[in-house]
Amino acid sequence: MTSLSLLQPSTAAEAAAMLAEHKDYARVISGGTAIVPLMQEKRLIPSYLVALYKVSGLGYLHHEPGLGLRIGALVSLRDVETSPLVRRHAPVLAYAMSRIASVRVRMVATVGGSLADAHYASDPYGVLIALNAKVKAIGMTGERTMQVRDFIKGHYRTALQPDEIVVELFVPEVPDNASTTYIKYTTRSQKERPAVGVASLVRLDDSGTCEELKVVVTAVAETPQEVVEAEQLALGEKPSISLMREIALRYSQQIKPLEDHRASRWYRRQLIEVLVRRGLEKCLELEESNQ
Ligand SMILES: Cc1cc2nc3c(=O)[nH]c(=O)nc-3n(C[C@H](O)[C@H](O)[C@H](O)COP(=O)(O)OP(=O)(O)OC[C@H]3O[C@@H](n4cnc5c(N)ncnc54)[C@H](O)[C@@H]3O)c2cc1C
Repeated sequence: MTSLSLLQPSTAAEAAAMLAEHKDYARVISGGTAIVPLMQEKRLIPSYLVALYKVSGLGYLHHEPGLGLRIGALVSLRDVETSPLVRRHAPVLAYAMSRIASVRVRMVATVGGSLADAHYASDPYGVLIALNAKVKAIGMTGERTMQVRDFIKGHYRTALQPDEIVVELFVPEVPDNASTTYIKYTTRSQKERPAVGVASLVRLDDSGTCEELKVVVTAVAETPQEVVEAEQLALGEKPSISLMREIALRYSQQIKPLEDHRASRWYRRQLIEVLVRRGLEKCLELEESNQ
């Protein structure tokens, strides 16, 4: 039987030093909602668990006017979901959080754990990428900040070095003219991970011309998917139903969906087309009569 030691650092730097010392034998634990089941199933057998719950100064959530939201790694998903600051400044993030698992899980699961988990079928990544959110990490060589887009490298793979921990999620100020949506589609139960998740952001100028359009599709591949060429079709154009349909079609044609117990490849392709179109129409409040 292998032994397991629980290490309880009180600072992020101390946690980084513990990870550096024990390298591949150590894993971080925050809420434990993802890592404990993996350990129970023996898919992960660490010798050291570096528990972050005693690390001070990672439980903040505040808004810096003109800059954005700063959320410490130990803030629970439930606190993000219910925060009046998040609801006011990034309502789509509060909504995406509210669609994760159950209240019981969200009360325990943390922002840092949710980011570092990097499970392909996760809800928050699409919204965070659409909002240009960033992750701050601390390791033995100091701290660094990276875009969520660059942080998620694959299923259970992030850009974190073995001695680094996530300390903060930063969500830049969402422009006043931005409209955002998140659509989660589940195939088994409402509390399940998504079969497909679609995050959309659209910005129109005063004349109704599209300045920015982003669509990030999650849970269909190892990493969140964006079809930049399709997004660019909208730039400088007045959005119409036919244009949104064309963008949705290109998403479904260009993403190569995976197949799992939640949906077949064929079904995911259909879902991508329908949900990308719906997300954009919802952002733009388009109705058939506008066509
Ligand atoms: C029943 C159930 C249903 C779920 N449904 C959904 C769903 O619908 N949608 C969805 O998106 N997710 C879902 N999840 C996943 C859930 O979001 C994650 O389990 C949770 O966010 C992980 O956070 P945690 O704090 O518990 O992380 P932990 O379990 O503590 O850790 C998760 C991973 O991150 C690492 N880690 C933790 N904190 C840090 C840190 N600060 N720095 C570096 N590495 C760190 C750990 O080493 C581990 O690899 C579900 C989970 C459960 C148990």
